[in-house]
Parts: sequence; C-alpha cells; structure tokens
Amino acid sequence: MNENRFILLVEDDPDHAHLIKRHLQKIERVQFEIDHVRSLAHAKRQLETGQFDAVLLDLSLPDSPINQTLEKVVETGLDAPVIVLTSISDLEFASKAVQQGAQDYLVKSEINRDILNRSIRYAIERNRTQQELERYAAKLKESNEHLEGFAHTLAHEIRSPLTVISGFLQIANQSFLDDLDENTREILQDSLTATKSITELVESLLEFSQAATHTNTFKSVDLESEFFHVYAVLRPLIQESGVTIDHDPLPCVYGNDIQLRQLLQNLLTNAIKYRSDQSPEINVGCEQTDNHWIIRVSDNGIGIPKENQSDIFNAFTRVIGNQQIPGVGIGLAFCKRIVENHKGKIWLESLPGKGSTFFVKLPKSIN
Ligand code: ADP
Repeated sequence: MNENRFILLVEDDPDHAHLIKRHLQKIERVQFEIDHVRSLAHAKRQLETGQFDAVLLDLSLPDSPINQTLEKVVETGLDAPVIVLTSISDLEFASKAVQQGAQDYLVKSEINRDILNRSIRYAIERNRTQQELERYAAKLKESNEHLEGFAHTLAHEIRSPLTVISGFLQIANQSFLDDLDENTREILQDSLTATKSITELVESLLEFSQAATHTNTFKSVDLESEFFHVYAVLRPLIQESGVTIDHDPLPCVYGNDIQLRQLLQNLLTNAIKYRSDQSPEINVGCEQTDNHWIIRVSDNGIGIPKENQSDIFNAFTRVIGNQQIPGVGIGLAFCKRIVENHKGKIWLESLPGKGSTFFVKLPKSIN
C-alpha cells in the first residue's frame, strides 16, 4: 500500500521545481502531494493553513534574502521538518541552516530520486524523534515541579505539628526529668534527638524547594563580605574544632546574595564537619578565566571515596561510615541547585584520608 506524504515545495525557479516534482513522482510506494509556492509570503500562508510532512525550502527567494529565509519559516512555529535546497555556491548558508534547525540540506545539482527519498524519510523520522524528546523533557520538567511542590507542601504542613511535639518534649525534659526513672529518661532524650533531626530535615527540605531563583532578582554580590558574614556565623564551630581558614580575596559576582552566602556556608560547614584527626586546615581560593570565576574550598579532612563522588550532589546522598556525623544529605544538592541557578558548575576532587576540594565556577556576567 502506498504511503501519502504532503510536501510544501518553496522554490522560485520553475526548472528546479519541475525537476524536483518529477523525482518525487518517480519514488515508489510513496504518493507525494506537492504544494508548490514561489515566495516566502506564500509559504508562510500555506504553513498557517496546511499540514505538511516536510518542507523543501530554497533559501534564496524573491521576497527574502538567503540568510533570513529559514529563520522566518521557523518563526511560523511549523511542526514539519525543513530540508534546505541549495546551490553548490551557497553551501555555507546551507550548513548554517542545519545548525539553526533545518533537518538536512540538498545540493540542487546533485538531487536524484533516491537522494530525495532518503532525505525526506530521515528528516521526518529525526523530526519525530526530536519532538518526542522535547515532549518528554517538558513532561519531566512538569513532573519535577509537581514533586517539588509536593515536597514543599509536605515539609510546610509537617513543620507546625513538629514544633508542638518538640516543644512538649522540651517542657517534659525540663520539668519532669528528676521524677523519671533512668529508662524513661533515655526514651525522652532519644525522642528529643529524633525530633531535632526531623526538624532539621524539614527545614532543609523547605530551603531546598525554595531555592529556584529568577535572574531578575540578581545584583552585584561581594563574596568577600559574604565570606566574613559566614565566618561570623560559624565562629563557634571554628573555635570548637580548632580549624584554621585562610582565603584569597574574593570577587564581586552577579547573583542572589542569600543563596551565595548559603553556598559558602554549606561548603565551609562540610569542610569543618568532615575533618580528620589531623589539625584541620581550610583554604578558600579564587582564580579567574576570561569569562568565569572559579572559587575553591579545600580541606584536609576525611575525603570522599571515589565511588561516592559522582552522586554526592544528589539529595539525601551521604557516605556510609559518616553516619555518626550529623547531617541529612541535602547541603550539596542545595549547593548544586544554587550554582545552577547562577548558570555555573560545581564539582569536586577528593582523596580519602587526604582531603577534598570543591570547585564552583561562576560566569562573570549572566545574559
Ligand atoms: P550532609 O553534610 O548533611 O550529610 P551534604 O549534602 O552537605 O549533606 O553532604 C553529603 C555527603 O557528602 C556528606 O554526608 C559527606 O559524606 C560528604 N561530604 C560533603 N562534604 C565533604 C567534605 N568536605 N569532606 C568529606 N566528605 C564530605
């Protein structure tokens, strides 16, 4: 049985158009219905009303210069794949057109029945796959947004009853501790610890789900003063652990100040938390390339095993064996999200027993 294909042929040269129609008619097992137009204006009109399986498009038209035709056709929002028809002298434009979204290009003097058949078939297939991928990506994005919304609502709803439970346990702990036997006292202590860790988890989840920022809230942020702010917040932990922190002067970057402070705080807290028996040292460094700043947070702590390094930025991922160190496994996922909000990258290098370095690459300007 013959397949039917609807083709829009946009070609102002009657000889070329005639030749292409003849080749199409000679293709076996496919019935081509060809709508032939000679100008961009006509092509646009046909694309508005008709459904086509493919468009064969000459770039050089009486009402459109060669470097603008494809863009104007793409602007119509057409679903069909575009195959550009070109002469040998315009190959440069044709290959640029493929980068701009055309599925293929054909040199007019080389066209024959088989080349045309193959090109149309592949263009339709590739276009279908591409559209399926786009639909899938959009669905994934939507379902991630739902999931995040759900996590946010859940964390928000749990917070109030949790505060009540935690308040009650604290009152019980303060008021009746002396009247309780050893066993009940231990149960009360364990309940308090468990409530504290659920509260931390809920707070982290809330912060994490709120971390999507739009770049229109961005401003110039002085990382040097954010660093000192974080240093002041962490002072008790710094003193208790005996860690020394030295740092390069840090630049001003364009971003969200609260998130960038949170980023520094998470990386520094981890560098202190995951210290080893050696006297802990942290170095915050900074380098620049033409377009980026690269901020480094290095420690001489316990390091991260190779097998954990690739998924450590996923939420709730913790290194087994570090469970005695408090944490919920969201900090680095949060860092990744913040860096991505700033169109940057985060990665790490680590040697177990020697220490870790986290790198944050931020663009100097965000367009
Ligand atoms: P948390 O610290 O709450 O567990 P993070 O997402 O911040 O969560 O970190 C995930 C895991 O990565 C930690 O549990 C720890 O095992 C490991 N990790 C993070 N930073 C460091 C570091 N500087 N040195 C060693 N291990 C680290």
